[in-house]
Amino acid sequence: MLFTPARGRRTGVCLAYPNRYSLGMGNLGFQTVYRILATAPGHYCERAFLPERDGSPPRRLLTLESGRPAGELDVLALSISFETDYLNVPAMLEGAGLPLWSSERDERHPLVIAGGSAVFLNPEPIADFCDLFLIGEAEEMLPEFLAFLDAARESGASRRQILEEAAAIAGVYAPRLYEPRYEGPRLVDVGGPRAGCGVERRLVADLDRFPTTTQILAEDVAFGDMFLIEASRGCQWGCRFCAAGFMYRPLRTRSVESLTADVERGLAGRSTIGLVGAEMASLPGIAALCDAIADRGGRASPASLKADCISPALAAALGRNRSRTVTIAPEAGSERMRRVINKNLREAEILRAAEMLVGEGVRDLKLYFMVGLPSERDADVEAIADLTLAIRERFLGKGKEHGRIGRLTLSVNNFVPKPWTPFQWDPMIEVGEAKGKLARLRARLGPVPNVDLEGESPREAYLQTLLSRGDRRIAGWIVELHRGAQRGESWWRALRSGRRGKRAAAGLVDPDWFVHRSYDYAERLPWDFIDHRVRKLYLRTEREKALRARETPPCDVSTCKSCGAC
Ligand code: SF4
Repeated sequence: MLFTPARGRRTGVCLAYPNRYSLGMGNLGFQTVYRILATAPGHYCERAFLPERDGSPPRRLLTLESGRPAGELDVLALSISFETDYLNVPAMLEGAGLPLWSSERDERHPLVIAGGSAVFLNPEPIADFCDLFLIGEAEEMLPEFLAFLDAARESGASRRQILEEAAAIAGVYAPRLYEPRYEGPRLVDVGGPRAGCGVERRLVADLDRFPTTTQILAEDVAFGDMFLIEASRGCQWGCRFCAAGFMYRPLRTRSVESLTADVERGLAGRSTIGLVGAEMASLPGIAALCDAIADRGGRASPASLKADCISPALAAALGRNRSRTVTIAPEAGSERMRRVINKNLREAEILRAAEMLVGEGVRDLKLYFMVGLPSERDADVEAIADLTLAIRERFLGKGKEHGRIGRLTLSVNNFVPKPWTPFQWDPMIEVGEAKGKLARLRARLGPVPNVDLEGESPREAYLQTLLSRGDRRIAGWIVELHRGAQRGESWWRALRSGRRGKRAAAGLVDPDWFVHRSYDYAERLPWDFIDHRVRKLYLRTEREKALRARETPPCDVSTCKSCGAC
């Protein structure tokens, strides 16, 4: 155990992904942290994934490398990219044979730490389950933390001492040193030994120093047919609903030289190179990079492309790469709504991009849209169908010229308000209303040939919103849903119906308080203690511009200081 001062013994870290193996191993963040832990001097790392739930008694959490119980190692490190995986944290802890609550664990138990993009934004819903959080990018912070742990182990420090001293490391958050205070349902203050101490989100300034790529090639995992290369972090466009556009500020990009070196390495193991980042069309040198991949007989598969940034050279390069499907994200159907979300994108630019891509040989297009955005009107929802039909006309017209008819696939998601965005104060619309908007789009586009519509479940969006905007009191719900799942009950039923009486009895807060309520500007937000270097006033100003459908130009990191991140 971590607290037995055994000089010279290597520290064992179980890196655990609170979901299936195929998702965890397809996650670049998880693979990157695994490399850091597995190569850290004086440490060894074994992986573990959420045991399959098949109705039989909950399975033990065993490591992949040695099949030993995860709770036997010195540290259980949870890597959490999506807030919906917060629901699986109790199963991970119980599977590891550990008490659920941090306050119930002692020197006999491993330290439970968590990191990953979900906890960057708001770790509070799982704060009472974890001993420490690492807030930010791991490349520099994690080795620092491991060195601290080594020294603590050498000195025989107690668990309490470790929590207190670890909190002095930039980016490390020890929730037990902060005590939230409520007046009725409202979070009003935070006390405790570190009250008033913000937690700095850690960032890597130069991405070329830490090339982030696939570390383990595995067939049976998400993106398993690709070699993934992270090309940038952050985004300059500032779409007001998008967490990645604010939590990773300022934008940082990898150089074409270092990316090309990774391409060489990647093509030795895979024929497709997945280029990862918030937005790829405005990556410096993207067309040349895609050409370089095609020249080497590979296929480039870039993440989402902003339509107006797709140059003729990039479209041609994608054609050369035999890209079957390209994703563009209008997000909103009307010009007004695109100004509200600060998409900086005109309809003509979207139509031009669709035509150009098909002209260069791209067969299918995937389009991202959202419903339920702040200030949305019925006409804005109708405009999604109108824009889709306009794209279809250009797309099919050009396709016919080239003797091929592709498909348009719409992915329509519900707006989920995220911390650290201008829309963090806005509620999610009612589930019934969201269903109605999706139904109207299905009615208009369902009968149209060559158009497919995939709609995300509004209930899933409700859950996401609860877990992204909630505070520590959500932990009670997470345990309730975990127990419900063990009884074979659906989380929606547990969350919504039949249990109202029980909810009050169990002292659980009404989840609608976090999902369907507008937060006041003066209100203390559960994630306010994290310092993302983006000023809260900047986010508020951006929200007010949104409500007047006013846009903000993209970031110019060479001159601008407006949000505080540069
Ligand atoms: S300071 Fe300006 S350029 Fe830098 S991230 Fe903020 S808005 Fe963008």
